[in-house]
Amino acid sequence: MRIVGPRGGTDLRGPTACELVTEEQVDGVLARLGPDPLRPDSDPDDAWRRIERSRRPIGALLMDQRVMAGVGNVYRAEVLFRAGIDPHRDGRDVSRDEFFRLWADLVALMPIGVERGRMHVVRPEHDHGAPSYAEDRPRTYVYRRTGEHCRVCGTPVRTEVMEARNLYWCPTCQR
Ligand SMILES: [Zn+2]
Repeated sequence: MRIVGPRGGTDLRGPTACELVTEEQVDGVLARLGPDPLRPDSDPDDAWRRIERSRRPIGALLMDQRVMAGVGNVYRAEVLFRAGIDPHRDGRDVSRDEFFRLWADLVALMPIGVERGRMHVVRPEHDHGAPSYAEDRPRTYVYRRTGEHCRVCGTPVRTEVMEARNLYWCPTCQR
């Protein structure tokens, strides 16, 4: 779905629900959502409780809106890279510390994306070298960089489909 407003627009891909619904049904959808890193009243413990005992890969859990709301495909790839976590690792093999650092990273990064309309995820010390995947987008560590060299270690970036979306990661930096 494309949403267009007076200050520009955005494309919504892979939404939780994309259908005409009543207000009551909207409440139902919202009630099923996990904590949203953009909302100060969110409780990350609600997400952690689902992740810590899950045998699903963390790369799938981050895309599950019941676990955590609003992360999306770019942030999934990029925060897992920044955290050094292999997206295939089971939720239950992610430590509490790792999860809360990941949450804090989303809380820091996502408002910047909302404010600028661009997802800035690359730390200043790595923001050079190979250009971004698109002219009008900031650089990414791994997102849409299949086969290109990792900005940190030089290993070719890998991709595969996970949860119906392309997942990108560095097999060396992410364990
Ligand atoms: Zn790497």
